Amino acid sequence: MSQPFLPFALPEIGDEEIAEVVDTLKSGWVTTGPKARRFEQDFAAFLTEGAEPGAAPIECIAVNSATAGLHLALEALGIGAGDEVITTTHTFTASAEVARYLGADVKLVDIDPATLNIHPAAIEAAITPRTKAIVPVHYAGLAADMPAILDIARRHGLKVVEDAAHALPSTLGGRLIGTLGSDVTVFSFYANKTITTGEGGMIATRDPAIAARCKVMRLHGINRDAFDRFTAKVPSWYYEIVAPGFKYNLTDIAAALGIHQLRRAHAFQEKRDELASLYNELLAELPLILPPMPALGELHSWHLYVVRLTDHARIGRDALIEQLYAAGIGCSVHYIPLHLHPYWRERYALRAEDFPHSQHAYERMLSLPLYTRMTADDVHRVVQALRTALLG
Ligand SMILES: *Cc1c(COP(=O)(O)O)cnc(C)c1O
Repeated sequence: MSQPFLPFALPEIGDEEIAEVVDTLKSGWVTTGPKARRFEQDFAAFLTEGAEPGAAPIECIAVNSATAGLHLALEALGIGAGDEVITTTHTFTASAEVARYLGADVKLVDIDPATLNIHPAAIEAAITPRTKAIVPVHYAGLAADMPAILDIARRHGLKVVEDAAHALPSTLGGRLIGTLGSDVTVFSFYANKTITTGEGGMIATRDPAIAARCKVMRLHGINRDAFDRFTAKVPSWYYEIVAPGFKYNLTDIAAALGIHQLRRAHAFQEKRDELASLYNELLAELPLILPPMPALGELHSWHLYVVRLTDHARIGRDALIEQLYAAGIGCSVHYIPLHLHPYWRERYALRAEDFPHSQHAYERMLSLPLYTRMTADDVHRVVQALRTALLG
């Protein structure tokens, strides 16, 4: 009897999330309002628990995607035409496209083959007099080398916006991503991320001016948000437009999911960590390079479990994915590096040989199923299919 298809990713939505959404629907307030605010406050409290004691308060601003959050962050930092933003080629296009929204140019750089994260030396080599910001990505949930990146930023007077779409919760030096010394950190709650609101994102910053600008630009450049406007005790028809803003607010329906997903974030991480450890143990004998591990005691969110075929593997990556699919197992590739996509390649005349580590990894990598609803039996099934494909 053939087994049911094992998807690459699945969200875990519980009864509490569902009850909170129903409560929102019945409340009469379905767009940005009390639940979005509660989600922001809960998120700030969550990060503060993982922050250095006594550090400046963290403010969180809910948005309808991480892409929106990255856009708002760069806008608030004053990035615009003529500026350059450095990010990794080994990411989703959102990390880079937001700079283009603002008319800034993107300098894509290579990764460290040991961590698959942006290489600090490559950042340093890409800096020009036009460089304004660095956007590191915590690839797969493994923290990027933030001490080195922040040091480069300080020496060159650059802003740092962390793309933490994969990194909830991940730590570096025992501190949660989102609490380190960058200007802004942005999280994603897209359907396949470690917690989800369907679509959604969160901006975290310790800079009150950045927070204020993001809030204004999140909703049309209005100087108060819609909930204030409609629930204030004073006559509230009056508002002022102070900038040509965007429509990036998170609905209360989505925030209702986020409130309960966030409460489960550490439990989700533990489950993912257990599944990743089981993969590590069972895959040790196969011709695969296993995912880079964090230092002892650090949290890895395990958004992705990425393996690379070694050069003596008997089949290639594409054939391997086909065989796994035929065995009823979904896989993916993270990512087709930006330098290979027509837009980025042609816009900046990029060549694969300028990104040897990303290119090498890309040709050999695949992301195995990893999500909280998986069982140990599911992991065994994936490993058995890999064993059959790779060893016969
Ligand atoms: C998912 C993702 C994003 C975009 O997140 P959205 O919430 O879908 O906008 C940005 N960067 C990376 C690295 C991602 O994986």
